[in-house]
Amino acid sequence: MKKDCAAIVLAAGRGKRMRSEVPKQYLMLEDKPIIYYALKVFQESFINQVILVTAAEEIEYCRQNIVEKYKFDKVTHIVAGGKERYHSVYEGLKAAKADYIFIHDGARPFVTEEILERAYASVCQYGACVVGMPVKDTIKIADGNCFAVSTPSRDKVWMVQTPQVFAFDVILQAYTSLMEKEEELLQKSVKITDDAMAVETFTNWKVKLVEGSYENIKITTPEDLQIAKAFAL
Ligand code: C5P
Repeated sequence: MKKDCAAIVLAAGRGKRMRSEVPKQYLMLEDKPIIYYALKVFQESFINQVILVTAAEEIEYCRQNIVEKYKFDKVTHIVAGGKERYHSVYEGLKAAKADYIFIHDGARPFVTEEILERAYASVCQYGACVVGMPVKDTIKIADGNCFAVSTPSRDKVWMVQTPQVFAFDVILQAYTSLMEKEEELLQKSVKITDDAMAVETFTNWKVKLVEGSYENIKITTPEDLQIAKAFAL
């Protein structure tokens, strides 16, 4: 039998890069809001509890038009997120109680049960893992003036997706330290952009990379929505 698993699904971003009045996770894909698809996968999976993190002013909309409408009864809490993604994760963590925590971007509709299974197997073994895929393009590290300074070996570079999955104590320790040291990081202009980075920075745990899929895209810009429409067909 599987251990107790909770998912924190993030939907509190403003999605400025989408240049849309409606936050990207509520834009329609086929005939449903983007956020519906990830929630449906979690609802039908082995995950026991879902915490949905959204903007304070969208909590009621989410409750009525998504959680109740589609009968996502694994959603136990809808909580208000914060300014940065990591603030939103921290708010979600306060409501989560499980052995393992799956943190997922609500703007990634193509997560699958197989991906969740692979991540579960990995987190049981390593305590910390993130889903991702090897990059297809060559990656350059640039200086502040857009000159290439180095080229990491392509077989060592992954693009990281979500879910990012951790034993509860590991992710709580990472986020508690992150919130305590936030000012220090801001002064050094370090921005924590994913959960693995918080764990790498603030704990001694090694984060395992697990195969996701090239379809598990995050809808960020208008082109991504076109690609998502092709995948959804
Ligand atoms: O901004 P980015 O594309 O990295 O956002 C990834 C996910 O995190 C999205 O699903 C977005 O809604 C969520 N997010 C959030 N709170 C923020 C910023 C982003 O929940 N302050």
